Amino acid sequence: MSVADSTVAGRAVIELDHVSRAFKVPGGTITAVDGVSLAIGAGEALCIVGESGCGKTTTGRMLAGILHPTSGRLLYEGEDVWRKKGNELSTFRRAVQLVHQDPYASLNPTRTIFQTLSAPLYRHKKAKGNRDATNRVRHLLDVVGLTPPDDFLGKYPHQLSGGQRQRVAIARALTVDPRVIVADEAVSMVDVSIRISLLNLLLGLRSEMGVSIVLITHDLAVARYFAREGRIGVMYLGRMVELGHSEALVSDPAHPYSAALIAAIPEADPRITRSKERVALKTAEVPSLLALPPGCTFHPRCPLAEPGLCDVQIPELLPLPADTPREVACHVAIRERRPAAELLA
Ligand code: SF4
Repeated sequence: MSVADSTVAGRAVIELDHVSRAFKVPGGTITAVDGVSLAIGAGEALCIVGESGCGKTTTGRMLAGILHPTSGRLLYEGEDVWRKKGNELSTFRRAVQLVHQDPYASLNPTRTIFQTLSAPLYRHKKAKGNRDATNRVRHLLDVVGLTPPDDFLGKYPHQLSGGQRQRVAIARALTVDPRVIVADEAVSMVDVSIRISLLNLLLGLRSEMGVSIVLITHDLAVARYFAREGRIGVMYLGRMVELGHSEALVSDPAHPYSAALIAAIPEADPRITRSKERVALKTAEVPSLLALPPGCTFHPRCPLAEPGLCDVQIPELLPLPADTPREVACHVAIRERRPAAELLA
C-alpha cells in the first residue's frame, strides 16, 4: 500500500504513484510536480490547493491523463494507464473527465447546447437517434440545473452567463458517465453566489451519482467548503506538503505552509483567527522553480525551520500520529508528533 492509499477507504479508482513532471522553460528546466502520490477513492471529494506555480494544475492534468508524467505512474483501477491501448484506453478516457477553468474557451461557440451535448452521446453510442439524444440532453440539462431544459437546447454559449456555461461544461463531462471529474479552477471565474451553487452541483453529483470529484483551486476557503466531508491536499513548489481530512487540516494545520494559507483567509472564524495569529513567515518571497532551495523548499520562509536539518534533507510526506489520519512533509511536525499549528502557538 502506498502512502497515498492510507487515507482512502477501499480501493482507489485513480492514483498518482510518485509522479513528477518537468518542463523546459527559458533559462533551464523546471520540475513543476515532484514525486506526488495521491489516491482518489470512489465517490470522494478531494481538493488540491496551493498558490500559483505550486503544480496543482499540472497534477490535475496528469490525473486526467492528458499530460504524461516525466516519471511515475498514473493508475486506473490499479493498472498503469500509459500502458493501456485501444478499448482499455478509451474506457479510461471516458471514466476521467476534465472540466476547465474557462467554459467559454472550452465550448465551441458555433455549436448550440444541444449539438455540444449530443455529439459525445452519438460518438460513444449512448444515444439511438435524434429523439433519444434530445431526451438524454434534456435529462443532463436538468441534472446540472439548467431548467426548463428546452429553453437551452437551441442556445449558443455566448447567450449564456458564465455560471450557465460552466454547467454546460459539467453536463458535457457527464455525457460519458464518468467515474472521476477533475475540475481545474472550475468556479474561479464566476461570482461568489454562483460559485457556491456550482460547488453544490459538483457535491450533488458525488452524493447522487457516486462520481469522485477532484477540485483544483488556489482558494482555501473554496477548498474548505467543497471538501468539508473529504480531504484537502496542499501543494507547495511542486510537492504535496500536507494531505488530510478537511476539518482537521483547517482547524489544526500540520504543515507551517498550510497554517500560513489558512491565515490568509479573510474570515472571522475563531479557529482561523487563532491560526492567523500564530503564523509569521520569515519572508513573503516565493523561491523560483529554476533555483529551488535545498532540503525543504519552504525553509527560507518557515518560522519552524531548523538549520542543518530543514535546509539539507527533503522531508517525505509521512503519516502524522493523530486522531484524524493525515500526512505531512515536515521534519519538525513528524519528530514532535504534533501539527505545526500547535508548535507555532
Ligand atoms: Fe519548516 Fe522544516 Fe517543516 Fe520545512 S521541514 S516546513 S522548513 S519545519
